Amino acid sequence: MSATATGGRQALQYHTLPAQEAAKTLNSDPEKGLTSAEVNKRIEKFGRNELKGKPGKPAWLRFLLQFNQALLYILLVAGLIKALLGQWTNAAVIWGVTLINAIIGFVQESKAEGAIAALAQAVTTEATVIRNGQKSRIPSQELVPGDVVLLTSGDKVPADLRLFNTRNLQVDESALTGESVPVEKATIPLEADTPLAERINMAYAGSFVTFGQGSGVVVTTANATEMGRISQSLERQTSLSTPLTRKFDKFSHQLLYIILGLAAMTFAVGLGQGQSWPAMFEAAVALAVSAIPEGLPAVVTVTMAIGVDRMARRHAIIRKLPAVETLGGATVICSDKTGTLTENQMTVQAIYTGGQNFSVSGTGYNPEGEILFDQQPVDLETGNFPSLKACLMAGLLCTDSHLEQKNGNWLVVGDPTEGALIAVANKAGWNQSQMAELIPRIDGIPFESQFQYMATLHDSHESDARTIYVKGSVEAILGRCQQMLNADGQPEPINRELIAQQVEFLAEQGLRVLAFAKKAVAKNQNSIEHEDIEHDLMFLGLQGMIDPPRPEVIAAVRACKTAGIQVKMITGDHITTAKAIAEQIGLERDGKVQAFEGRRLTTMDDAELAQAVESGVVFARVAPEQKLRLVEALQSKGEIVAMTGDGVNDAPALKQADIGIAMGGMGTDVAREASDMLLTDDNFASIEAAVEEGRTVYQNLRKAIAFILPVNGGESMTILISALFARDLPILSLQVLWLNMVNSVTMTVPLAFEPKSDRVMRQMPRNPKEPLLSGTLFQRIAVVSIFNWILIFGMFEWIRRDTGNIDLARTMAIQALVAGRIVYLLSISHLGNSIFRKLRGKSASISDGKAMALGILCTVILQILFSQWGVMNTLFRTAPLDLNQWLICLIPALPMLPVAWFVNRIDPAE
Ligand code: ADP
Ligand code: MG
Repeated sequence: MSATATGGRQALQYHTLPAQEAAKTLNSDPEKGLTSAEVNKRIEKFGRNELKGKPGKPAWLRFLLQFNQALLYILLVAGLIKALLGQWTNAAVIWGVTLINAIIGFVQESKAEGAIAALAQAVTTEATVIRNGQKSRIPSQELVPGDVVLLTSGDKVPADLRLFNTRNLQVDESALTGESVPVEKATIPLEADTPLAERINMAYAGSFVTFGQGSGVVVTTANATEMGRISQSLERQTSLSTPLTRKFDKFSHQLLYIILGLAAMTFAVGLGQGQSWPAMFEAAVALAVSAIPEGLPAVVTVTMAIGVDRMARRHAIIRKLPAVETLGGATVICSDKTGTLTENQMTVQAIYTGGQNFSVSGTGYNPEGEILFDQQPVDLETGNFPSLKACLMAGLLCTDSHLEQKNGNWLVVGDPTEGALIAVANKAGWNQSQMAELIPRIDGIPFESQFQYMATLHDSHESDARTIYVKGSVEAILGRCQQMLNADGQPEPINRELIAQQVEFLAEQGLRVLAFAKKAVAKNQNSIEHEDIEHDLMFLGLQGMIDPPRPEVIAAVRACKTAGIQVKMITGDHITTAKAIAEQIGLERDGKVQAFEGRRLTTMDDAELAQAVESGVVFARVAPEQKLRLVEALQSKGEIVAMTGDGVNDAPALKQADIGIAMGGMGTDVAREASDMLLTDDNFASIEAAVEEGRTVYQNLRKAIAFILPVNGGESMTILISALFARDLPILSLQVLWLNMVNSVTMTVPLAFEPKSDRVMRQMPRNPKEPLLSGTLFQRIAVVSIFNWILIFGMFEWIRRDTGNIDLARTMAIQALVAGRIVYLLSISHLGNSIFRKLRGKSASISDGKAMALGILCTVILQILFSQWGVMNTLFRTAPLDLNQWLICLIPALPMLPVAWFVNRIDPAE
């Protein structure tokens, strides 16, 4: 069998075999699956079910690509010309610095890519299998040929399967065939030459179940699957490109042209004034080098990667890098209610059946608690409560979940809503597995959001009929009922008004209300379809369960409001329940919770809808298709929308949203695949945290720009003016290289690690149309640039006049510039701000400014080496300073204080 399971060509033949035979060929049992021993053997043999793509670009190529930047071209050529002029030291230093720069870029990029790729892999998909005759969930990577896999809508098909059971199974194979319409599956054997897209009895790895259920036997795994064959030819790579990095690229290109133009002009004007051409070449190179912010691309990459990492720590996994940026600009968050805003810890508290109201005590899923009627415990054995019994029975039998006790805690395996229904039946003294033996299940229609109900068909030895139990939303059930059970267990015509009143009464308390019904069918009916329960159901009752809001959500919602972000609840639940919960978590807007029902949205035209999405905060009984319309309506109003989703049909809305958010715990693979971000704890508070980090990324990038550009500005002004006025250059091109490539990098990288400031969540969301280099940021850069120019120029002229030593004058000008730079860096950094607050006697934490402190320390050490070490003196034409001269260099740092204060007023940084 090994050849058929892994082998290339033979594997194609599984679609020709009858399903049973396919399973037999693979030595598997469709009922019981494989045994653990067999699985272990096979995993040895076939390996893990993981796609091994072609490795990405080799390291040496990625390293060489670091040189593929306009600036580095200029430097390489400049070095070459210097070499031709015989200035070997100069040439070596230029090339050396270029090389160091490429190494730094390479290391940072590899790290960032590695971190992002690792995150993507941390998100594993699970598969439902039958092994040793039992159903269990395992990571998809552990599948082996011969495993029996169960599929249900929303699943990603984990390996290539020969199907042997389908129930309305539809699979989206677009990843494989490009065909976007889902394919209806069946089990009949097919002709050998049936093309892949038409092999309806197979389900292929990488496709998605969009509807129905099915099961099949794994025929191939990993790279032997059809998907594996394709992906072997695809190169796998993580892209670090985002809209922002692309903007930066564009910006640096434009800058480059301006600089080249200026450099050429300087060169020409200087020559015209009769200066020597080597001097003019030096000036032109110095100008080009000084004007380009070399450190910036590295900082952008590192800042993004750090943002991704911080978000992951706060339970938000970024799947698509641009989301890091978009998150910071989000203006509306549309969140699911159940499980995201609430705990998803359901407990039934109220039952209405046979015209009587019961209450239930106890919390959680443990069977401790009682059903009370008129404050008195109900005994189902002795008491006569036929309708209550029927209602509880429906909840216990019509389910795909069960409860388990782990370390003394009762946990639900499956849907919490169903867990609550089982727990209340347990409180009444019933046992799920005993009951399932007495009244066995013959068939079922599982719950789907789209239909809002679930139904199961049961047999009973005692009765000469079979029973369908149905449970679901009140809206879905009530219309199908013609009769209801009264307190004596006798049918009565249904009183819809009375029931509606009860629903309202329960929902107002924030309870999630489910309705129950049953229908008797012939003993020979073996399966059920949706048509079977269209009408003539017998209404059994209502159960109301509490699902408390997550406590941390209340604070997170408040934080969003302060940050100018609207929070809207989109839910499949009842409008009154949704409203009650919305009030509890503080979603109200202008003092009220305006709620809309999905049904009403469909009757609105686009203008009305746009109005409704702005003013409404609760959207209840929303069908997944309507989510898409909601997103579009919000976007048409210029909002940046984050939207959560978990079902199969949520995928279009998740894709359309600016940030699609899926759940890592609950939710389907389809939703996850469509999302930009994944919450590992399914918690709304993590969305708020991610927004916070997204804003911090943006703020730190802004800081980096505010820090780097003024130095480029000051340097290029110095060089341009000196060259045009035919004066000696206050800084040489090599020294500019040092400043921009060594000094700038040491000082800017810590900005990427800046902790979030208190301000980020007190500002309104950033206008996405606003350019990064906004008006006030530009003013800030201009002011500090001029100050830097005065500083360099003044120091240089003063010392040269004083001592006549031009090397000393240049060195001191540079040291003064760096001293001023340190002050400026502190003024925009968290560390500086904290120190300042401490000095004024306020509370502040200095400890999270470690990266910054380290950066400044390194800067100081490097600058001391730069002027005091003989080797540096030769390489960079610097001169050693004495203590007095050092002190003189520190003086200009003082006027930087008022300058920094002034620019912080026009353009707040921290
Ligand atoms: P939500 O969970 O936000 O309420 P869903 O779309 O999952 O939205 O559910 C819609 C409605 O369907 C629920 O409000 C509930 O009335 C009903 N429902 C939810 N889960 C089940 C289930 N397992 N079986 C039957 N009905 C359910
Ligand atoms: Mg739900």
